[in-house]
Amino acid sequence: MKKIALIFILAVIAPSLVLAWLALRSLRDQQFVLERQRSLVYQGVADALATQVSEFLIEQQYQFRTNVDRLLAIAEPGAAAATFDDQLRANWSLAQVGFAVAPNGTILSPSPLSRPEARLFCEDNSLFLGNREAAEVYWNPKIGLNNSSGSVFLSPNPAAQTIQPQPAVAGNLKQQQRAVLPQQQIDNQGGQQEPAPGNFSKLAAAEAEFRQLMGGNDEGALSRFLDDKLNVMFWYRPARDSALVFGAQLSLPRLVERLQAWLKPFEPTFREQLCIAVLNDKARPVFVSPDGFSTDWKRPFVATEVGEALPHWEAVVYLRDPGEMARSAKIMSLTLGLLITLLVVAIGVGSWLIVRDLNRQLILARQKTDFVSNVSHELKTPLTSIRMFSELLAEGRIAEPSKQQSYLNIITAEAARLTRLINNVLDFARLDRGEKKYSFESCDLNALTRETAETYRAHLENNGFKLAYTTSENAIVVRGDPDALSQVVVNLLSNAEKYSNGQREIELRVQKLPADNAAEVQVLDRGPGVPAGSEERIFEKFYRAQDSLSSGIQGSGLGLTLARQIARNHGGDVTYSRREGGGSCFTLRLPIAASSRSIKCVESA
Ligand code: ADP
Repeated sequence: MKKIALIFILAVIAPSLVLAWLALRSLRDQQFVLERQRSLVYQGVADALATQVSEFLIEQQYQFRTNVDRLLAIAEPGAAAATFDDQLRANWSLAQVGFAVAPNGTILSPSPLSRPEARLFCEDNSLFLGNREAAEVYWNPKIGLNNSSGSVFLSPNPAAQTIQPQPAVAGNLKQQQRAVLPQQQIDNQGGQQEPAPGNFSKLAAAEAEFRQLMGGNDEGALSRFLDDKLNVMFWYRPARDSALVFGAQLSLPRLVERLQAWLKPFEPTFREQLCIAVLNDKARPVFVSPDGFSTDWKRPFVATEVGEALPHWEAVVYLRDPGEMARSAKIMSLTLGLLITLLVVAIGVGSWLIVRDLNRQLILARQKTDFVSNVSHELKTPLTSIRMFSELLAEGRIAEPSKQQSYLNIITAEAARLTRLINNVLDFARLDRGEKKYSFESCDLNALTRETAETYRAHLENNGFKLAYTTSENAIVVRGDPDALSQVVVNLLSNAEKYSNGQREIELRVQKLPADNAAEVQVLDRGPGVPAGSEERIFEKFYRAQDSLSSGIQGSGLGLTLARQIARNHGGDVTYSRREGGGSCFTLRLPIAASSRSIKCVESA
């Protein structure tokens, strides 16, 4: 048994537990992968939004260049430069200030005296534009779209254009904190989850002079923070007179207005699950879709920086129901966890049942082997006696008639014992196969028991037993097979004799229990009784509470099995109880027949 259990633990339980553990681990990994995939998808949405903003800026820069070209088409570059501020603002509403710079760094337009905005612009920018001072700017020297004309500064994917300022112009680079703190930091390049140490911006301002920034390019954009306010400028060197630089400082409120109109048709996919927005450098929303959504703007799910033209502006994605992801992950892990647990429990229970059944089969196999040796022994003992005494009689060596009679009695008793044993074995085989046939009839249980007892009495008394028979009734009518019922009584009497342990008193009681509409036959002895714990097991096939070899009592372990089976087939039962004062009490209980008119089997004595 221990060996089977060990094999099962090693072959079934241990691998199942390992598999369950692996399944749980892969469940966690799966969850992580799913979450990451979702983050990547949402990151894609943020990137696409940032691309839209970039394209918007490209479009504005194109419009600026077109306007400059149009002005230069109707006037000489020198004349156009003098009135550029007024001309540009009249034609292009996005311009807050239009400026023109001569090759020697002189600002040709606007005149600081023309209007307050122009004066402020000149105060802030004349040194920088005149190349007499380096300023801290965000700029992008890369050429993106339409680069054949060398005119556009933004690449389509702003995340991909996060560049470090060129060493030639870079000075005092400072890493800057982002205004927002995305919950998922995904590296767009590798799709790797990267920790966010301090959540630094990928953009860095560089200190440079205006001429350095322009380098050999024809146009570009740059952004500066002046008094914590963002200034965005476009500049352009026309082909007709590339020594002159024309530029525009953009009006941010108008830029935002146009941006909102530009992004209006841009609807996010998964709009039931997420909301998109563009945040300015103060982390305030300048565009939100769908309208009316509000949240802690600084904690988006994912975010992408728009780029150098709008430094610290972010394209962001928020989850409309932030708890939903955790909830669905929890439900998924709970469901799968439960399934795995159920599976393990099922395997455990199944294994336990198999082990139990195997164990039962093993016990049964052992009992069958014992049975064969027990039966052989039981057959051998009476046969030896019969042979020995019949030989003595046949040889005529016993002259004394009383002895002859006694030998004959022994031969008869042993033959009866043999018959009983063989009957038991044959009946058991029939019952086991479901082939046992009964011929039911109404019969008097009192008379049947008495007759069986009387047949057995001689044998018992020869062996020094006293058999008492008590009954209070004349006739107790039951429906049954008389031979089968008689076999039950004989089996019980035979056991009382076998397990008497020297106390040779047997009592047979027959009584009617009108309240229960039943009758009982009790066989009582003064033997050792059935050992505790075996009271029910003695009715199992082949089971013997006393081992033949150690107790010396012959038996097959079938007598009681047979008795109970027969009784149950008659609607009754055979039970065991401890007898008061020591010994056993076996009770055959049968239902009383409805009609007692025809009593066929045994006439009451
Ligand atoms: P067998 O007597 O051939 O072993 P049974 O089925 O008749 O088989 O009995 C099963 C077991 O019940 C016996 O082996 C014995 O241990 C126990 N038993 C039966 N009758 C008695 C009794 N009267 N007193 C004590 N033990 C008994």
